[in-house]
Amino acid sequence: MEVILSECLGFCYGVKRAIKIAEEHADGKSCTLGPIIHNPQMVERLKAKGVGTVEDLKAMEEGTIIIRSHGVGPQVYEEAKTRGLNLVDATCPHVKKAQMSAKDLAQDGRTVVIIGEKNHPEVKGIFEWSNNRAIIVESEQDAQNLPPCPKLGIVSQTTVSGENFVKTVAHLLGKSNDIRILRTICTATDQRQKAALELAGKVDVMIVIGGRNSANTTRLAQLCRTKCTTYHIETAQELKPVWLEKADKVGITAGASTPDWIIGEVYKKCQMI
Ligand code: SF4
Repeated sequence: MEVILSECLGFCYGVKRAIKIAEEHADGKSCTLGPIIHNPQMVERLKAKGVGTVEDLKAMEEGTIIIRSHGVGPQVYEEAKTRGLNLVDATCPHVKKAQMSAKDLAQDGRTVVIIGEKNHPEVKGIFEWSNNRAIIVESEQDAQNLPPCPKLGIVSQTTVSGENFVKTVAHLLGKSNDIRILRTICTATDQRQKAALELAGKVDVMIVIGGRNSANTTRLAQLCRTKCTTYHIETAQELKPVWLEKADKVGITAGASTPDWIIGEVYKKCQMI
């Protein structure tokens, strides 16, 4: 059986950067606001090094609060300042660009549309930078339902697929005569999705590794399922030999928040089957 790793998989630039920043502040008094990435194993590893997690700034009396790659709204920066906390910003520069785009579009008097998932922390942050005025569009139906407006500005969650973005924007084009479209999609997502789809078309089984709460990993698994039998796992322990028994070729990919060591363990286990 041949085991093939996707050409583009695992940690993206923004996640690598956020973890490096968190590790540099591992002094036992630092916490990330929410889990640093959607990967429970990585969160545990950071905790062991001295970087905890809090869900709310109110849980901290002192120390350093680290903003994860998904970013937050402006009021968090204000609150950290008021509480005398040292804020370290590990927001991914691509997310920052989406946040600032939403802010600029709102300041330009536009109705801001964010194409993305309502409940995703990154989208909540971008929404808050629009002065809490943006409309979040999750589906083509949402876009169709949008009323006409004089000035429209469109941004997206960084992990939206290029295809979804184009389809959704097509429904928004007739809503205004003055539209600014800022395609704030991160190429890391597109690259991982393209490479995974290509590999899934060549193998019998795909293994997609990443947190079950990771939106980009779940999306990778959905895409691979359109091409071949696909299993989404978090760790090598979950891999069942019976899945691969009849396969000649097995492909492996991993979400942007999956650590290299977990990918390595899964790869080794597949090779031993
Ligand atoms: S997926 Fe892209 S936008 Fe998101 S953290 Fe990674 S590099 Fe940044």
